[in-house]
Amino acid sequence: MSHIDLEDLEIAYRHRLHYKVCRDCGAKNPLKAIKCRRCRGKNLRAKKKGTIKK
Ligand SMILES: [Zn+2]
Repeated sequence: MSHIDLEDLEIAYRHRLHYKVCRDCGAKNPLKAIKCRRCRGKNLRAKKKGTIKK
C-alpha cells in the first residue's frame, strides 16, 4: 500500500506551496518533476511561496 505519496501530493496541491509550472503549456507539475508531464518540456519554473528567482 503506497497511498502516502498520493496524500502528500494532494496536500501540496491544496496548499499550493510547492509545485512547478511549465512555461510552455502552463501545466502544474510536482516539485520533484524534471520534465513536464503534459508536454515533456524541461522549461519548468518552481512556484514557491516567498521565493523570487531572478
Ligand atoms: Zn508543459
